[in-house]
Amino acid sequence: MASNTSSDSFSARDRLAVDDTSYQIYRLDRIDGSARLPYSLKVLLENLVRNEDGRLVTAEQVSALAAWDPAAGYGREIAYTPARVLMQDFTGVPCVVDLVAMRDAIAELGGDTLRINPLCPTELVIDHSVIADVFGRADAFKVNAELEFERNAERYQLLRWGQQAFDDFSVVPPDTGICHQVNLEYLSRVVFTREGGEGAEFPVAYPDTLVGTDSHTPMVNGLGVLGWGVGGIEAEAAMLGQPMSMLIPQVLGLKLTGELQPGTTATDLVLTVAELLRQTGVVGKFVEFYGPGVANVPLANRATIGNMSPEYGATCAIFPIDAITLDYLRLTGRSEHRIKLVEAYAKEQGLWHDPGHEPEFSRTLELDLGSVEPSIAGPKRPQDRIPLRAAPHAVSALLKGAETTAQALSPLDEASAGSFPASDPIAFGQSRAEGKPRIPCGCGKIHDWPSTPVSVELADGTATELDNGHVVIAAITSCTNTSNPSVMVGAALLAKKAVEKGLSRKPWVKTSLAPGSRVVTDYYEKSGLTPYLDKLGFNLVGYGCTTCIGNSGPLIPEVSTAVTDNDLTVCAVLSGNRNFEGRIHPETKMNFLASPPLVVAYALAGSLHVDLLNEPLGTGSDGQPVYLRDIWPTDAEIDDVVNKHLKAEMFAKSYSDVYAGDERWLSLPVPEGDTFQWDSESTYVRQPPYFDGMTREPEPLTDITGARVLAKLGDSVTTDHISPAGSIRPDSPAGKYLSAKGVARKDFNSYGSRRGNHEVMIRGTFANIRLRNQLAPDTEGGWTVDFTAAPQDGKAPITSIYDASVNYAKTHTPLVILTGKEYGSGSSRDWAAKGTLLLGVRAVIAVSYERIHRSNLIGMGVLPLQFPDGQNADSLGLTGQETFDIVGVDALADSIPDTVHVRAGGVEFDAVLRIDTPAEADYYRHGGIMQYVLRKLLN
Ligand code: SF4
Repeated sequence: MASNTSSDSFSARDRLAVDDTSYQIYRLDRIDGSARLPYSLKVLLENLVRNEDGRLVTAEQVSALAAWDPAAGYGREIAYTPARVLMQDFTGVPCVVDLVAMRDAIAELGGDTLRINPLCPTELVIDHSVIADVFGRADAFKVNAELEFERNAERYQLLRWGQQAFDDFSVVPPDTGICHQVNLEYLSRVVFTREGGEGAEFPVAYPDTLVGTDSHTPMVNGLGVLGWGVGGIEAEAAMLGQPMSMLIPQVLGLKLTGELQPGTTATDLVLTVAELLRQTGVVGKFVEFYGPGVANVPLANRATIGNMSPEYGATCAIFPIDAITLDYLRLTGRSEHRIKLVEAYAKEQGLWHDPGHEPEFSRTLELDLGSVEPSIAGPKRPQDRIPLRAAPHAVSALLKGAETTAQALSPLDEASAGSFPASDPIAFGQSRAEGKPRIPCGCGKIHDWPSTPVSVELADGTATELDNGHVVIAAITSCTNTSNPSVMVGAALLAKKAVEKGLSRKPWVKTSLAPGSRVVTDYYEKSGLTPYLDKLGFNLVGYGCTTCIGNSGPLIPEVSTAVTDNDLTVCAVLSGNRNFEGRIHPETKMNFLASPPLVVAYALAGSLHVDLLNEPLGTGSDGQPVYLRDIWPTDAEIDDVVNKHLKAEMFAKSYSDVYAGDERWLSLPVPEGDTFQWDSESTYVRQPPYFDGMTREPEPLTDITGARVLAKLGDSVTTDHISPAGSIRPDSPAGKYLSAKGVARKDFNSYGSRRGNHEVMIRGTFANIRLRNQLAPDTEGGWTVDFTAAPQDGKAPITSIYDASVNYAKTHTPLVILTGKEYGSGSSRDWAAKGTLLLGVRAVIAVSYERIHRSNLIGMGVLPLQFPDGQNADSLGLTGQETFDIVGVDALADSIPDTVHVRAGGVEFDAVLRIDTPAEADYYRHGGIMQYVLRKLLN
């Protein structure tokens, strides 16, 4: 990370003075071709120049990026070194577990435990665990926070210990905020500064960049900060100071013109952008905004657009730095010196937005902001935008048809669904179909609303009716929108006007407010708007993801019973970004994304059947119908509240103690000392075995001999097949383990939440109920044949993959996986590689790999091999019954051979060795990234 160590082949090192401080910078104008590059590639270029070391980051990579051909597909591989790492608790816990285990390992090897710290600044925000159990009451926040601590004490203990034990590691405690909103409002530096290392005269200034273990990390792109979501292993590598390999991407320029019309919101804009970019196809690409309309997009709207990058498949969606960026930094209480530095640096480096300058792009599109109209999206895909004017018609058509439950999902949609509940970033190549948006029904005829009303008596004696299309969840949720004061104030003003007219929420609607920072409730308080939200049931339920991640808690009990007993198709309306079936709530088959004001409106209307533009929301206390237009706040009213009540001091105050935590956090019993005291009874956090038996020097590489096939799989096996993140079945090996540990079924929680316990995760590897292992052809799920067991009826018996792996371990039998095309696509999931290793798999032989999973396998010390061109297991005549020898692995000790030789029964072939870079070879020689870094620190 010490940036003054650059080889500086381009003589780019220079000095920039701001106020009385001098900074070392690496000038982009010293590199031919840089001026024509889009903003995002300039940021990457600076990254390479500053980190050039002649080995992992070479002058050749710099030149290749400077010579970027916009018309080309993916460019060459480069090594990118983010300035920092952002984590949330679901995906962050296993990274911290590994870091803690590294401390144990270095101590075991006689080293200094205090050398193990993140080598790249790492920030973790605990936001994914709070559930909206209780709503609509003054104490909802307190009760939900208490339940959250009861459920998560074991994980929180580890994180609290890490907070005080590690340098360069900050933890934002629970019930404080949501990672992307905290990142936007506080953590982002926009221009990063770091001491230049030994002998450096000045600190180094460079663009703030990051990788995050949450898919919506690109939200910060709104600030001009380049960042995207990565899997746990890449995040760990970055945290350990290792550059990450990536291909020079294509960059799509989206030219913005015009201005949003009054009455349209940032949410309407982002749903329009999502639809447009899904239509275009941007998977794996960078998207960058330019043109005269950029200046008309407030920063919070830019962040909302960036947030939904994974929904349209882009790696990131970035806005360049301009005066609006600086205004936002000022509003959010950043120091004047920082703001000056950002301006000076951006202008010096050609990173300042010039509306008249059009960089070169791989492709351009245009969007007139004036064409955006109020919209919702759903019922299960974010790209399926429905203009609000057409909503009842479109929803009635959906209710009449089978699509609500049976619509085919594209691979991108499936990857998005597979990321649940942990929000892993998606990872698959651009060759895959992305799923075009569906045009809502516009047939012009009147569809009958399929009505099957059911009488319901609520606990307070209210007698009411529930029907298809009724809204049972209305949630102001998700950092996508809660970071945006305009839409949040809009929602609260709408609530105020509704209350003043005498309206109330429909009694079957579960309402909730879960902002992403305390600033939101602060400006609600200051502007006197809180009581109106409370009156409608939008009491604060927590500062965390809640409904956005499916932590919506139970429906109103009588409503829930009516829905399940009568198989009603009911809806959630939320200000979130994903809505595939099952994510929001198991009982809501239709989930619509909408702006916070529309969420309040739907809580008042209580049904998607109501035409919000033409029918009344209800009857006012004066007996007159009240329409949405009567209570929709004007832009001037919203601006007035924002200008009067949103102040820099509020951000400064809110964030002054952002790492402190409340009583519950502070009173967690935390072990003393430099190493963590693992609790052998914990079912959430356990010491992983990666370093068991590790030696100071790596063991010599050896061939893999006598290996058996654990699974023979087909094409398109995803990381969710390999390591499911969802619920744990009681009859699965993981379920049996938890039961044996005394965990009640209701407390099993998900694989995603138990990633800190390798015992659960190993048992869950290849345990997806949809996995088809050709070795056990009549089964579905995590089954295989166990060649160590005595044959039954002349055949090796079928057993669970986990149980077989235990038997193979007893006989010291290495394992291999045979598989097809695009192995490991889907979401970028650390346990897909970790679990593979811990089952005893030494090599995977595939037809092709998803890029990140391949590198994750190497990061864990598993050998990725490919069948010879044009061949697969079947074409070679492999059944999976063979015993495998993989010969020539030892040649990797000092070179990277192109192939290794495989002998399997009577079949022999040369498998392509998919270790592609010198860094990957180093990781493999050491048994994985963690061992590599550990030995470097040790020696
Ligand atoms: S609120 Fe939603 S988008 Fe934001 S971090 Fe949580 S799950 Fe991700």
